[in-house]
Amino acid sequence: MQNATLSIHPAVDNGITKGEQNYAGGRLVCKCTSDPVVVEIKGDSAHNHLCGCTKCWKPSGATFAMVAVVPRDNVTVTANADKLQVVDTSATIQRHACKVCGVHMYGRIENKNHPFYGLDFIHTELSPQKGWSEPKFAAFVSSVIESGVDPAQMPQIRARLRELGLEPYDCLSPELMDLIAAHTAKAKQAAVAA
Ligand SMILES: [Zn+2]
Ligand SMILES: [Zn+2]
Repeated sequence: MQNATLSIHPAVDNGITKGEQNYAGGRLVCKCTSDPVVVEIKGDSAHNHLCGCTKCWKPSGATFAMVAVVPRDNVTVTANADKLQVVDTSATIQRHACKVCGVHMYGRIENKNHPFYGLDFIHTELSPQKGWSEPKFAAFVSSVIESGVDPAQMPQIRARLRELGLEPYDCLSPELMDLIAAHTAKAKQAAVAA
């Protein structure tokens, strides 16, 4: 049974709506009632998932963030760019947030050697348009304890994620972990050859 007091994330709490095939993209809008920051996204998001880490932006009351990636060239700030600032300039992912409402509009990796270089992280729930790819798994699930979740609730949280079809992982999904390891192996081989 679902605990009514526990919100995984508003986008999944009532079940998951599947995304559209060949989705054309749309815009993301921050929560400001006047002069919101607008970011245009060309094409669909990929690897949408829930994230339990303490760094990703999430709506109030949600236990997890929902985050996806898009090629950085498909991301364009089209309104009120002056309201954006990087949350933590020392972080691997430079999260560009609205200074007024605090929403993270996109996260960018500037380190060209990072396995995810070239991909920006976005929250498709900020879009008034529907049809974005739906979340497929939950990453960094154990990390929600760092945000204040009682460790005793973890079995219930993992059970709820599985019930929603979101396999819980305490790091990234095997697919993404393989991608990172392959990148590291290639970098090592290149270093040996040099
Ligand atoms: Zn804002
Ligand atoms: Zn995260």
